[in-house]
Amino acid sequence: MATIAANLQAVKSRIAAEERAAARQSGSVTLIAVSKTFPAAAVRECAEAGQRAFGENYVQESLDKIETLKALALEWHFIGPIQSNKTRPIAENFQWVHSVERDRIAQRLNDARPAALPPLNVCLQVNVSGETSKSGVAPGELLALANAVRTLPRLTLRGLMAIPEPTTDSALRRRRFALLRELLGELNARGHALDTLSMGMSDDMDDAIAEGATMVRVGTAIFGTRVKT
Ligand SMILES: *Cc1c(COP(=O)(O)O)cnc(C)c1O
Repeated sequence: MATIAANLQAVKSRIAAEERAAARQSGSVTLIAVSKTFPAAAVRECAEAGQRAFGENYVQESLDKIETLKALALEWHFIGPIQSNKTRPIAENFQWVHSVERDRIAQRLNDARPAALPPLNVCLQVNVSGETSKSGVAPGELLALANAVRTLPRLTLRGLMAIPEPTTDSALRRRRFALLRELLGELNARGHALDTLSMGMSDDMDDAIAEGATMVRVGTAIFGTRVKT
């Protein structure tokens, strides 16, 4: 049972080491523990080891966990594909959404965000891998989407998210992450005020931190291998 706590410590050490190696400020990278497919008990164990921010991909599964663990006041990040008929429960139960890639979905999240809650923090998911990936807005369409999302009062546009195609080529991975960092810089040069680069998972977080990630989304390295359902 000590495994999750030990894994969490190991991941935090990796983050700290990579921050130092990249001459970045200690604490500049926030860890999102991706708990999809794992039960509420695993999330609780991780929370008791000090983790506050958790990432989920599937709406129904995540709502059950959020309800079970509400006394812990955790921070929940939705990181999976968003179906338009699921925008309401996402807007009502999460503090962050990393995977907005369409205007219409942003509009629906905005409309469903309860007035009693602060605006929903949003990242735009960008396709940094060209035709080898289908998810995310194309870099050429990013500015228009960002400008549209910025007008929505119940959303706060915080940054960009990407999932590069799986590869063992570290140099290629670094280029994908660098592209996301450059796109963020371009948006900020055009009047946006984005502070979040959500990039890096268990296998590529080191490269992502080297390229400027401010949030890494780590599942397997904390909770173990997911069983495919
Ligand atoms: C599952 C998932 C992760 C975590 O991946 P691991 O390889 O298990 O660390 C991160 N981001 C997204 C969007 C995911 O779907």
